[in-house]
Amino acid sequence: MTDGSTLLKLQELDLELERLTTELNSMPEIRELAKKRKAYQKLKQDATKLLAQRKDIENELSELDENEAFCMAAVDQAQSEMADPANYHVVRDLEVQLSSISKRLDKIEFTRKEKRAALTKVLDAEAYASDYIAKFEASVISDTRMAREKAAGLQNDITVNKARRQALVDGMDRALYERYEAASKRFRGLGVEKLEGTVPSVCRTALSPSSMDELASMDEVGECPYCHRIIVRSVVE
Ligand SMILES: [Zn+2]
Repeated sequence: MTDGSTLLKLQELDLELERLTTELNSMPEIRELAKKRKAYQKLKQDATKLLAQRKDIENELSELDENEAFCMAAVDQAQSEMADPANYHVVRDLEVQLSSISKRLDKIEFTRKEKRAALTKVLDAEAYASDYIAKFEASVISDTRMAREKAAGLQNDITVNKARRQALVDGMDRALYERYEAASKRFRGLGVEKLEGTVPSVCRTALSPSSMDELASMDEVGECPYCHRIIVRSVVE
């Protein structure tokens, strides 16, 4: 390769390396994963809330069972006392007592229906949440794997291009390389341009006939009279 084509190739590799590094460092997949992990924490919190709600309802239901058993025992007691009442007043008292227990039992039954409906609702919500969380976990795992694969691919491309660059630099004249580095720094990665007809490829300012004559008399690698980048007059592959 001539100096000109080496310079152009080096710039091409550097631009590609810059692009790959930027792509690797700003992978949208990484941001998306961070968002997903946050959402996952929220889902787990919601599931914990549902579990607490269910435990509360289950406790309330077992309290209702206990109250019911207590009432039933009281009914049994009153009924056995009524089988052999001491007098009329005792019968009256027992009747009032039974009626009050019956009201309590009705209330227990009513509340139990409400709590059971609430329990069904929470159980459904829990089942839905656990299904959703399982799918979410699977998607996070697969997204993570894909992001890792993409990052590894980019990292590999970077390694390959760096090796190519190093091989190119090793074969270059030291002064030419230093000139390239200085121009690359000064022109932010675009320190070399190619003359296409009479137009340099980066600054796009058509050269005057006298500048063209001047360049023609020089080596393959010169300096653009307008932007002062390194200009490659003709490229011999
Ligand atoms: Zn120029």
